[in-house]
Amino acid sequence: MSLWWLTALLPFAWLSARYCWWRTALPDALPRVLMYHMVSAQGEAKKHRGLRVEPAMFERQVAWLAANGWQFVTMAELTERDFRGGKQVAITFDDGYEDNLLNALPILQKYDAKATLYLVVERHDNDWSVKKKAHHNSGELAAEPKLSDDQVRQLLDSGVFELGGHTLTHCHLPSTAPADKAREISACRWALEETFNTPVTSFAYPFGIFDDEDVALVRDAGFTNAVTTNEGIDGAGQSAADPWRLRRIKVSGKDNFWAFKIRMRIGFRGHL
Ligand SMILES: [Zn+2]
Repeated sequence: MSLWWLTALLPFAWLSARYCWWRTALPDALPRVLMYHMVSAQGEAKKHRGLRVEPAMFERQVAWLAANGWQFVTMAELTERDFRGGKQVAITFDDGYEDNLLNALPILQKYDAKATLYLVVERHDNDWSVKKKAHHNSGELAAEPKLSDDQVRQLLDSGVFELGGHTLTHCHLPSTAPADKAREISACRWALEETFNTPVTSFAYPFGIFDDEDVALVRDAGFTNAVTTNEGIDGAGQSAADPWRLRRIKVSGKDNFWAFKIRMRIGFRGHL
């Protein structure tokens, strides 16, 4: 028996597993929270390619969101609206890379978009990539220019950005002593509020790693919402969004534009 049809089917099966394009889109009424880190050219860098979205691709994504009627909101606004409403999308940036000002801000302004920045307080001369796993020590993230305080002020003065907390040092919460955890979480909030004279009510767990005790600390510190790195779109089916464990859609620098649109539809890209 001829198996020609199998060779025809294999690429199709591969594409299906890689992109899950066949899944039905989740309703537009469920807010999308997008996770970015850097908006910059890939260059020679070998590691962290997923964390780096090329400026031209970022513009294509933001332009597509604007053209398709997605309303840009900050995480504080989304929380005030109880995660309900029309087509709402929250763009978020983790850590505080300088390219957020140099490359992302002009694009966000061009499309009248908004974003939330989760800023590490002690972000200079601090290689947090080794805190999770020692072998991550390529020095690449540590060498990446971070926003100065003045640059953060420019982001806030633009009216585009909301400032959120991401701990003092980007600590690895599971291996941090309880007293230090409380300090990492609560002191980052008042340090940011004091330095930048802006309310700080949104939080992102470093590395997306946290337990119930950490959630309690974040609440006690006065934050009103917290994002994880768990991929997806909250509110599907019967489950309402948990404001302390919000899922995000990871926007990877390794994705093509089709993958981005799939992620907007179902919350993730696929599994290959
Ligand atoms: Zn981070």
